[in-house]
Amino acid sequence: MFGAISSIARSDAASPRVVIVGAGFGGLWAAKTLANAPVVVIDRENYHLFQPLLYQVATTGLSPADIAAPIRDIVGVYRNVIVMLGEIVGVDVVACTVSIMGGRHVPYDYLVLATGARHAYFGHDDWEPFAPGASDRSDRRRGDARRLSIGGSPDESALCPIPFGAS
Ligand SMILES: Cc1cc2nc3c(=O)[nH]c(=O)nc-3n(C[C@H](O)[C@H](O)[C@H](O)COP(=O)(O)OP(=O)(O)OC[C@H]3O[C@@H](n4cnc5c(N)ncnc54)[C@H](O)[C@@H]3O)c2cc1C
Repeated sequence: MFGAISSIARSDAASPRVVIVGAGFGGLWAAKTLANAPVVVIDRENYHLFQPLLYQVATTGLSPADIAAPIRDIVGVYRNVIVMLGEIVGVDVVACTVSIMGGRHVPYDYLVLATGARHAYFGHDDWEPFAPGASDRSDRRRGDARRLSIGGSPDESALCPIPFGAS
């Protein structure tokens, strides 16, 4: 794996190596824009998630697989882009490396951190069990299970989910 990185994503003065952490909208846009340089895209998942359709997954109109696509399929047309699966746990800005969980390090000349955002409760984390977030597929699966079980209960079947904070 790391032999492939040093040969495909070789750094030199003319074409510095770019490491992009995160294959959401931001990371993929950067990868496509920079595709003439040696680019390494690292994500902790092997898929890109189309977040605007998470509500449809939450309300069981779509399956989670319908809104996820393999990152390698999306950027596979760009010969200079390689994709790695791994969770970044640290950045050494002096050595110019990112650390992947498990102890590996990937060198970069330029680093793009596009790791997205999480929901917040503005100091009221105790609200989370009552209003779970919707940032990733595991959030949604937890939400699905909760809503489906509420819908199956005679006392609570009138409850309906109301997504808010949506654009
Ligand atoms: C339910 C919902 C509905 C939305 N609807 C709309 C809409 O209608 N219109 C609109 O314009 N926007 C909408 N948005 C917002 C939009 O989806 C986000 O602004 C956008 O996805 C953010 O893109 P991003 O690349 O910054 O981050 P993300 O898409 O969150 O991507 C971050 C990536 O980084 C990876 N990552 C995170 N941490 C690490 C790590 N430590 N190591 C490795 N990889 C990591 C994640 O796996 C992920 O792939 C919606 C968002 C949600 C949640």
